[in-house]
Amino acid sequence: MSLILKVDGDRWRTHLRRVADERPGMVPVAKGNGYGLGNHRLARRAAWLGVDTMAVGTYEEVADVADRFAGDIVVLTPWRPFLDTGAADLHAHRVIHTVGRLEDLRALADRRDRPRVVLERLTSMLRHGMGGDELAAAAAFTGVRHEGVALHLPLPGPGSVLEAERLLAGTAPGTVVWLSHLTAAEVTGLAAAHPELRLRSRIGTELWLGDRGALEVHADVLDAHAVGRGDRFGYRRRRAPRAGTVLVVSGGTAHGIGLEAPNGRTGARARTTALARGGLDAAGLARSPFVVGDRQPFFAEPPHMQVSMLFLPAGPGVPAVGDRVGARVRHTTTSFDRVEID
Ligand SMILES: *Cc1c(COP(=O)(O)O)cnc(C)c1O
Repeated sequence: MSLILKVDGDRWRTHLRRVADERPGMVPVAKGNGYGLGNHRLARRAAWLGVDTMAVGTYEEVADVADRFAGDIVVLTPWRPFLDTGAADLHAHRVIHTVGRLEDLRALADRRDRPRVVLERLTSMLRHGMGGDELAAAAAFTGVRHEGVALHLPLPGPGSVLEAERLLAGTAPGTVVWLSHLTAAEVTGLAAAHPELRLRSRIGTELWLGDRGALEVHADVLDAHAVGRGDRFGYRRRRAPRAGTVLVVSGGTAHGIGLEAPNGRTGARARTTALARGGLDAAGLARSPFVVGDRQPFFAEPPHMQVSMLFLPAGPGVPAVGDRVGARVRHTTTSFDRVEID
């Protein structure tokens, strides 16, 4: 029983190439669940794309990619004295630390091996980084190898471009600037205006998940039970709101399925109005992410750990045991049992 991510390999690789062509100097990001694909797989793809640098989110994730990707690895979480950098220290010559505080830079500069660092500039995100004066002081440290300045901007919009323009205007010629969350066109425009800088895009979602048509999620139908209106089923011995099928499909809370808040409108009045509309939410059911034909059925009850019970009102197109149904999931929060790339 499996929740499967199916990748149309040719189409996906064509998309990856196109993004790489649009973004010279691109730095692919692999972090978390590897955007549903797994960090190890993304590392191999980054090597295949021929990029010289990739980025991971945490020091622990360096180990996910280091054996499969031979280039440099930027760690996006800023270095802190209390973080365990053990995995990364094994690859110290190709790990680039992000540094967001002067005191951290001082600590790194005291090391013997002159660590490689990118200095993070504080942006309107207010997540990590140093202000302009601190950055100028940081740039003068000689105990580290300077690899540039990082700007982590809010999600794309005119404000982000204006902010990038303002910050780039004060940046020393020759600096490598590592950017996040600007569109390819915006970066191209900024690069043309600043030939004295080298701009590099750190990019995850648009790269790995940017062509949704190349990605499909499949769940196995494990069981199908015909029920009449009022028949009981499930852990909670709920009654079927009308005649139909209780469908048991692979994919549950352990995969990240259905963790959104369930529909709370179970009061008598809400139920009456929903009944008037003919909606199944009248029975307190929540819409599931599964797709059966052109229907997106309700959960018959809250998802179990590895399977979900769905309620499919009577009608055509009831799948059989062994069929596969689709699912619309958030890839960055879903653990697939298997990734199939053809
Ligand atoms: C995660 C991350 C990225 C990549 O984000 P996407 O939206 O997936 O492209 C870029 N920069 C930083 C600093 C990040 O943490």
